Amino acid sequence: MKYKTFNVLPEFGTNTYLVWDDVSKEAAIIDPAAPSKILVDDIKGMGINLKYLISTHGHGDHIGGNKSINDNFDVKNCIHIEDAGLLSDPNENLSTYWDSEIIAPKADIILKDGDELTLGKEILQIIHTPGHSRGGICILAGNILFCGDTLFAQGIGRTDLPGGDYSTLINSIKSKLFVLNGNIKVLPGHGTDTTIEDEKVGNPFVGMMTSL
Ligand SMILES: [Zn+2]
Ligand SMILES: [Zn+2]
Repeated sequence: MKYKTFNVLPEFGTNTYLVWDDVSKEAAIIDPAAPSKILVDDIKGMGINLKYLISTHGHGDHIGGNKSINDNFDVKNCIHIEDAGLLSDPNENLSTYWDSEIIAPKADIILKDGDELTLGKEILQIIHTPGHSRGGICILAGNILFCGDTLFAQGIGRTDLPGGDYSTLINSIKSKLFVLNGNIKVLPGHGTDTTIEDEKVGNPFVGMMTSL
């Protein structure tokens, strides 16, 4: 599985990811953060078949480009059931706070924990990780984990927004992510990439290291 990172919403530093299977050329875009001609043209020039648009959660800084992608590609919009309502509600997706009034196309595929989407013979496994929002998900693609605003390098997602809950988030990270192979590369919704092992050892919020 291959991937490429785009930064189309510099004000928020949101990472937009394109992931594809190099054999079948089937692809998914994860969190197109804002409308971007560069992003659209880049995808069109890659000779890939964009099959899915997956939202890790429904916040406006992750779904602002959903309409643009739908206008340019025949994609299936995928989001967890608990965040599906945020797509079309600028108050719920928080975009009213920065005067954007984002209304994204409705979901075509409602996700739940354990669901699998396929790109050719490759599998995207959906892991429900509530805590930053109720319907936050991570997407495991082989040895890569796209984790939205659940886990960051040396950080975690905010839990003070509607639907957020600190203990729920910590539990999601410990019970759903820290049980994965330590070598897995973690690609967060903001900031630099990391690994499961590095966060298990050194994350100041959920570090598993016991004091000696
Ligand atoms: Zn968020
Ligand atoms: Zn975010």
